[in-house]
Amino acid sequence: MDNCIFCRIIKGEIPAAKVYEDDLVLAFLDIAPINYGHVLVIPKEHHESSSTIPEATAGRMFRIGSRIGIALKRKLDYDAFNLHLADGTAAGQVVMHAHLHVVPRGVEDGFHWNWRQLQYPDGKLAETAATLAERLAADIGQSGK
Ligand code: 5GP
Ligand code: ZN
Repeated sequence: MDNCIFCRIIKGEIPAAKVYEDDLVLAFLDIAPINYGHVLVIPKEHHESSSTIPEATAGRMFRIGSRIGIALKRKLDYDAFNLHLADGTAAGQVVMHAHLHVVPRGVEDGFHWNWRQLQYPDGKLAETAATLAERLAADIGQSGK
């Protein structure tokens, strides 16, 4: 897509600090990192949502994201990493070309996910699971696609 910043990085029209590339994905440093070495893994094909990325490419993104996480630990001395993907504006997606964040983490890096933990009222947990399972059975059955 012409006006997509990540498609322009893939085409070489905008510079990026690339760390990995293959036939399906490209990985480069996030320009405004949570910690130094924060990487974005993107599909070479333009997809706004993670849900439309073909299975082989989505699998590659996850696999390469994990391998980058291991490299960050081994070579840049981090303790751990988060994989994060925002799908949709309400989830915090700003660039509308799907991307997987690989966020290197240190024990005392001063960063915290603002992760709340609600409690289900009576019956709500089972009802929620049933509704979701029904939807998934209708949409994908057991094909995994
Ligand atoms: P989102 O909030 O959509 O999950 O994350 C988008 C990420 O892309 C942000 O972390 C932002 O810093 C990064 N980003 C936005 N524009 C550019 C750019 O032109 N180059 C690079 N390397 N990263 C970018
Ligand atoms: Zn794009």
